[in-house]
Amino acid sequence: MANLTGKTALVTGSVQGIGFGIAAALASAGCRMILHGLPDDPKASAACDKMLAAGAPEATFIGADLSDPSEIDALMSKAFDYGGVDILVNNAGIQHPAAIADVPRDVWNAIIAVNLSACFHAMQTALPQMAERGYGRVINIASVQGLIGSINKAPYVAAKHGLVGLSKVAALEYATAGTKLQGGVTVNCICPGWTETELIQPQIDTRQQQIGGSRDEAIADLLKEKQPTRRTSDPSEMGALALWLCDPIAHNVTGTQIPIDGAWTAQ
Ligand code: NAD
Repeated sequence: MANLTGKTALVTGSVQGIGFGIAAALASAGCRMILHGLPDDPKASAACDKMLAAGAPEATFIGADLSDPSEIDALMSKAFDYGGVDILVNNAGIQHPAAIADVPRDVWNAIIAVNLSACFHAMQTALPQMAERGYGRVINIASVQGLIGSINKAPYVAAKHGLVGLSKVAALEYATAGTKLQGGVTVNCICPGWTETELIQPQIDTRQQQIGGSRDEAIADLLKEKQPTRRTSDPSEMGALALWLCDPIAHNVTGTQIPIDGAWTAQ
């Protein structure tokens, strides 16, 4: 397992869901943790305590609304004051299923801002400093929707495809930073399929209303449509992959999009 002693990680949207699963995995490898969420998130303090229990030598929470670039600047500045960002996980995201004809303009703008532009702003600040140190990891949480399309998800699919493209360019621009021994600077996307978090609850509710069954039956119905294994993922699975990507041994794994999707995108 990677030893991240002496490293500091910023994981956006990390008091719950996939972000929390990734943060807990990094903490278990001895990483100092900067958790992030919307300002005044009531789950922040308990999440920091869980990081310490998992093995992080220190953990703090910084609140920032990622739809506002000035708050992202403040977040990055506070993160650098805390000791720098060796590992940046752009995880925070929002979703609003609706047909193109029905997507309000403010919903389009919000999804692009949080799911794509915020990642760009954070990377723009973090990458040059990673290059100076010769080690850095950017892990962008895209989605299967960054690789294929689905109806009723236009802003989300557009943002996630954009994130995949942005990550490829960043991987190329920073490919020569650092050495094999240092670990280099890598930029990758993890592309989850159905993963049990609050984000997918509205889709489960809608399906439950449509088929009139239990929550488990609604999930099974969603899975049978797209995810051949018919099993949901747990956020700890994204955590295990993120942890491996942070090991210096992964210095040549960069510019990739790694699905954890039960063969969804193999079809
Ligand atoms: P989640 O809703 O549990 O967590 C999302 C986090 O983002 C929350 O902590 C929330 O506070 C934060 N956030 C939202 N808007 C924000 C804003 N404006 N400013 C700051 N923070 C904000 O969802 P999740 O499923 O854990 O999602 C994490 C990432 O995984 C997202 O990028 C999502 O698109 C992606 N993803 C999830 C699934 C899935 O099935 N759950 C599948 C593919 C990709």
